[in-house]
Amino acid sequence: MTDVVKDLYELGETPPRGHVPKQMYAGVVRQSRFGEPRQAFQVEVVDTPSIGPKQVLVWVMAAGVNYNNVWAALGKPVDVIDVRNRRGETEDFQIGGSDASGIVWAVGPEARGVQVGDEVVIHAGTWDENAADIAAGADPITSSTAQLWGYEVNYGGFGQFTRVNDYQVLPKPKRLTWEAAGAYMLVGATAWRQLMGWPPHTVRPGDPVLVWGGSGGLGSMAIQIVKAAGGIPIAVVSDDAKAEWCLKLGAKGVINRTDPAFTHWGRLPDLDDAEAFGAWMKGARAFGAKFWEVLGERRAPRIVFEHPGEATIPTSIFMVDNAGMVVICAGTSGYNADIDLRYLWMRQKRLQGSHFANTEQSAEFNAMVDSGAIDPALSRTFPLAEIGEAHQLMYENRHPEGNMVIMINATREGMTTLE
Ligand code: NAP
Repeated sequence: MTDVVKDLYELGETPPRGHVPKQMYAGVVRQSRFGEPRQAFQVEVVDTPSIGPKQVLVWVMAAGVNYNNVWAALGKPVDVIDVRNRRGETEDFQIGGSDASGIVWAVGPEARGVQVGDEVVIHAGTWDENAADIAAGADPITSSTAQLWGYEVNYGGFGQFTRVNDYQVLPKPKRLTWEAAGAYMLVGATAWRQLMGWPPHTVRPGDPVLVWGGSGGLGSMAIQIVKAAGGIPIAVVSDDAKAEWCLKLGAKGVINRTDPAFTHWGRLPDLDDAEAFGAWMKGARAFGAKFWEVLGERRAPRIVFEHPGEATIPTSIFMVDNAGMVVICAGTSGYNADIDLRYLWMRQKRLQGSHFANTEQSAEFNAMVDSGAIDPALSRTFPLAEIGEAHQLMYENRHPEGNMVIMINATREGMTTLE
């Protein structure tokens, strides 16, 4: 830490505790650069955000890479900058980043439960605490006012400072490095709500659970949550090299979805076309048989952990057990997913949408990490200058297993506190 008061600090320099410089470095996306993440992200100097009465300014040490800022860089399916401008916000840029670890640097006069100097991780759920639906008892993350910090809400973790609401701040697990602490919350709390937040379909001891994208960010968390709850995670990957990662995290077995026996991905054929439907069913049955083989018994998954969407939903609905649940939080492969309703109603299956998590669920997940039951699954760190490259790898599905992190003010790996 320096005692020199300046308007801008280089990465690796730390202002005097509590001094907020006028400007900061950040990984920025602009509309004129929308497209491949490699070009969309640039490091720029921008004004440091001011905070409201119940808000908190955090000096960001490390910020996790998530798929939502691939979407933000593409400007599709939503131009998040345009959406904000239309609701009256004036910044013509996006500072994304829906995961971060850091140090509380300033607090608004009405902020509760948080003090300058606290070492924290941030959850990405935001909402208007005074919203009518929340006052009427709605889970805040289902509120019409809910928005994701670092995607829909500007000034996320990819700047030297981030602006958050007091309720988004949770204690950083002390034993974790800054980079590990910045890696897990978005995917972890999302997976936690999917698997533990929709009773009666929470993971029970002995439940088989099918986890799509087992080596990805969400999948790496889901495997560990299922395992910790006593369930039996079976992971899906597209590359045998990723199987080892899933087994290490606790998967009982792994299925490679590129096996040529599985010819049925994507949308359902016309149900009246007996030949095409027969071919689809053959692929789906082969996948089901593989599931039994790796599980070691002929049982269907009680829960299917979904996020690929269009490519996999027909299979997920077919696969899930009678009265089981397919729980989905994304449509990475497309949104136009087909459902053969006969399987849904006759076998009384549930298709449940799920989006991030509320504060209690985020705190529950954070406690799991703090206790050591869940590993943040950090695989690779990047300097801020390579923020575009990290998102490009994710866009091309060439990224390493688990979670990637951008080092912001922590310029050296392995730091657990401000040195
Ligand atoms: P990730 O690390 O890229 O992992 C996704 C995995 O999905 C990939 O590793 C890939 O594994 C698998 N996959 C990709 N295309 C597929 C396809 N056509 N069929 C089957 N599997 C496919 O991303 P993530 O962080 O886990 O996020 C996944 C999605 O969830 C993204 O769209 C993200 O925006 C969304 N998300 C939503 C929320 C929320 O709150 N709603 C929160 C976090 C993430 P293999 O190629 O090995 O099969």
